[in-house]
Amino acid sequence: MRKLAMTDPLTGLLNRRSFLDECNRIAQTHKQTAVAIVDIDYFKSINDTYGHDAGDYALKEIANITQSICNEHGVVARLGGEEFAIVLVDKTPKDADLIFERLRDAINSAQFNYKADRISLTISTGVSYTMDSFEVDFSAYLSVADQALYEAKSIGRNQVCWQPGIR
Ligand code: GH3
Ligand code: MG
Ligand code: MG
Repeated sequence: MRKLAMTDPLTGLLNRRSFLDECNRIAQTHKQTAVAIVDIDYFKSINDTYGHDAGDYALKEIANITQSICNEHGVVARLGGEEFAIVLVDKTPKDADLIFERLRDAINSAQFNYKADRISLTISTGVSYTMDSFEVDFSAYLSVADQALYEAKSIGRNQVCWQPGIR
């Protein structure tokens, strides 16, 4: 029951509530945290073109790729819809950026085979960063990441954008 309440049924990832709990737990013992929101680009058109089941399949595949790249460095969650959150722990901005770029590139290069269809996707990522996690309100930090995500969308998508002033 507890696991059901904590996870998203489609992807098995943590949900938003558990993600924030996990961030607060991490902040007790780690100073540097990078929080990212990942949003699939033009996902509505994937559903419109290939159908909702194909969209669900792509969401699960993206969840798997994201976990395989980020799990050893932090925690991955599904915030809802086609949005994911990642917290990376004890990384410099440079190292965190390398990981987010690796993820962007992996998804950009992947092809998802659903029945007869070959689906290609990109993601946009917005990142916020702190050296003083203990002080941070992580839900406010998600909003900062969301503003950076907005920037990534507006400059052309398939990009990683950072909170101003960090990099
Ligand atoms: P943008 O590049 O600006 O992010 O465009 P977008 O089309 O990804 O954004 P928009 O917010 O317009 O559409 C998000 C779509 O995600 C709409 C909705 O149908 C789809 N979606 C949300 N949750 C799910 C889900 O669980 N399964 C599927 N298949 N689609 C979902
Ligand atoms: Mg969205
Ligand atoms: Mg989207």
